[in-house]
Amino acid sequence: MAVYECANCDRAEVLDSFVPDACSVCGGSMIASDEERARQAAAIAEQNDRFRKTLNRDRSLAGRIVQTQGVDALGYQMHLKIAVALMEFDTFNEDNDPHGQHDYGVLTVDGQRFFWKIDYYDPQYEYGSDAPHDPALTARVLTVMLPSEY
Ligand SMILES: [Zn+2]
Repeated sequence: MAVYECANCDRAEVLDSFVPDACSVCGGSMIASDEERARQAAAIAEQNDRFRKTLNRDRSLAGRIVQTQGVDALGYQMHLKIAVALMEFDTFNEDNDPHGQHDYGVLTVDGQRFFWKIDYYDPQYEYGSDAPHDPALTARVLTVMLPSEY
């Protein structure tokens, strides 16, 4: 259940499905209300934190954690340190997290900077997720990369 609003006439409707139908009054397209958008962002942030902080060891969410070639080349000891830094990352702010989704961050490990980001795919990893807040419709890919690989 989610509140959507018509982009055309401002009619609000409560819809069961995540993909809203057309407005029942004017046929305009329905978009998520501010409240619903905030609720979805909070759900996404919680899922992203759970996925990242456990390195998805609990398998509660579909997804993969991958590293780029440049990170791959750094070796096992560095990978362990990066994994710890990734799990412990907790400094989200307006600059690195403007949408409140906890899907991006910068790590510093042994004086070297790394970026991590989370992308949302459909469960078959073919297209982007239609509903990143819905775990049934989303597979996450968390990528760790060198700044030069962003
Ligand atoms: Zn309408």
